[in-house]
Amino acid sequence: MEPPGALPRPRSPAPEAAEPPGSPALPAEEHPPAAQEAKRRGPGPQGPAECGARVGAGDGREPGGRARRPRVTVDSSKAKTSLEALKISLRQLRWKEFPCGRRLPCDIYWHGVSFHDNDIFSGQVNKFPGMTEMVRKITLSRAVRTMQYLFPLEYNFYPRSWILPDESSFFEKEIRMMKDRDPSWKPTFIVKPDGGCQGDGIYLIKDPSDIRLTGGLQSRPAVVQEYICKPLLVDKLKFDIRLYVLLKSLEPLEIYIAKDGLSRFCTEPYQEPTLKNLHQVFMHLTNYSLNIHSGNFIHSDNANTGSKRTFSSILCRLSSKGVDVKKVWSDIISLVIKTIIALTPELKVYYQSDIPSGKPGPTCFQILGFDILLMKNLKPMLLEVNANPSMRIEHEKELSPGVFENVPSPVDEEVKVAVIRDTLRLVDPHKQKKKDYWILQEHGYYKTSFFFFCCSSQTLEHVSDAKEELLDAGPPERLDHDVSTALEAGLPSLCLKQVFPKYAKQFNYLRLVDRVAALFIRFLGVKGTTKLGPTGFRTFIRNCKLSNSNFSMASVDILYIDITRRWNSMGIDHKESGMCWQAFVEAFFFLAQKKYKSLPLPEQVASLIDFCEYHLAVLDEKRLVCGRG
Ligand code: ADP
Repeated sequence: MEPPGALPRPRSPAPEAAEPPGSPALPAEEHPPAAQEAKRRGPGPQGPAECGARVGAGDGREPGGRARRPRVTVDSSKAKTSLEALKISLRQLRWKEFPCGRRLPCDIYWHGVSFHDNDIFSGQVNKFPGMTEMVRKITLSRAVRTMQYLFPLEYNFYPRSWILPDESSFFEKEIRMMKDRDPSWKPTFIVKPDGGCQGDGIYLIKDPSDIRLTGGLQSRPAVVQEYICKPLLVDKLKFDIRLYVLLKSLEPLEIYIAKDGLSRFCTEPYQEPTLKNLHQVFMHLTNYSLNIHSGNFIHSDNANTGSKRTFSSILCRLSSKGVDVKKVWSDIISLVIKTIIALTPELKVYYQSDIPSGKPGPTCFQILGFDILLMKNLKPMLLEVNANPSMRIEHEKELSPGVFENVPSPVDEEVKVAVIRDTLRLVDPHKQKKKDYWILQEHGYYKTSFFFFCCSSQTLEHVSDAKEELLDAGPPERLDHDVSTALEAGLPSLCLKQVFPKYAKQFNYLRLVDRVAALFIRFLGVKGTTKLGPTGFRTFIRNCKLSNSNFSMASVDILYIDITRRWNSMGIDHKESGMCWQAFVEAFFFLAQKKYKSLPLPEQVASLIDFCEYHLAVLDEKRLVCGRG
């Protein structure tokens, strides 16, 4: 996990968390060296852009003498450590950067830490509300566990995990039972503090009784996981993979994966864990921020060597040994899609609490960093998801003892600039406007997001701006020509590949919990809430016709109190009272089991969802008829 809002750490290398040299490259033909350098710096000024300065200048006219289209505006005032890579991307795209922010709304807001870095009411922002909370070790483990409960085979890419301290005794009991059953089983476990990053506080144990429950860092809530003892080795070293994934939209779900990633290497030859080597972090943990301190760390600008390499270089090597690398990639794509499917339900709960549907607000997208370990048998395993993967394109170098300097890391720059630039190309609001233009022409109304601007006089101004911009842009063909052709010409092909909805057919059956989230959100009601009150829960039961002579409203209240109290005592979020999302999932699964005992588990849940959706649709229909009446 990345440190939240990581600023350059003094006297330490760029975190990968900090990332050093050696990272993904697009195919060589897409980057002829001269063109690459020109593209890298872009046509704009090299120094820091002035506030509100137009990037890529001129006389305001295109080369043909035509008036220039309004440029996409980007507020980079909160970009933090991703600022350098963002600036280069914007120059390449010739978009307009506002490094100090802007009085008027911008098209895009680029945040370094979270959705809340700026107060935004329109445009697009590169963070989803709640994502940082969602990918914390405990929350991620819980979300994946829910999916493992429904689809154990599909979600076997995540190591078996327990949450500490809540499940300490359960963990001990389960391991004791498994050892009794198979005395030859000699497992190792890895303990990771919740919210930790860069390997901080992580340690390996052989027995549950070795967990350090007292004292400083170790008393924090944590996840304990089965340790993957047989990783794939390259040059006898353990390594992991950092992949960049773009969650372009939550509804409808759109996911892109960067074509290449980074491989971060350990710096001591790997041996399976024994009591003797358990503490050797350079052998067991692949974190760059740890291994950089090993005397064996190799900085290399060559993507195929050193302690940080491109993932494609590893795949090439595997391919030359006859490995089916297409299969490895397709397993990785499937891991990414399934993980995001596990995250989306709760993410939607967070999203509606910050941006309730039907209210003005920005739309979101986000670049995520997936950390993946390949096992010896080439099966990819998910280690963690980073909400703020490091986008730094330089690292600190110790020139002489105690003297440090920031030096550019060309490979990081190439990968990260490409990921940011191509993310921006994919969310380009002008392309969106092309779609809206047709709505305007054919139906004579604006896209709902424009409509919302009518809420205040300041935003009304925006409506007319938007309208003018739309009309000024001319018919879509023209816009296509001006924006897509002129700006995209000379840029390399996209480094991000769409995987969803492209492969939706194969994965849609897993999206059951999303539908449970839709029910939960419907009954949450009030803006800013993520927890369901007792009245909301009762209304859910009543409206979905779930109570009967066998299950009275008194039993409903008891169920609500029992589950809510237990989840709240786990003490993740005491700010609000009420039933949290995970508690609702538990209650829902309980109800499904009760009502459809004879069915297999996922079908129990699917049947209850169908049942609830049916009754709510009937109710909505009735209300509509009454309303009309
Ligand atoms: P952090 O956020 O502190 O980096 P990670 O979950 O990424 O925590 O774990 C740190 C490192 O520990 C990983 O990069 C990986 O090398 C190793 N690791 C983590 N989980 C496992 C596991 N279940 N099996 C084997 N190695 C693991």
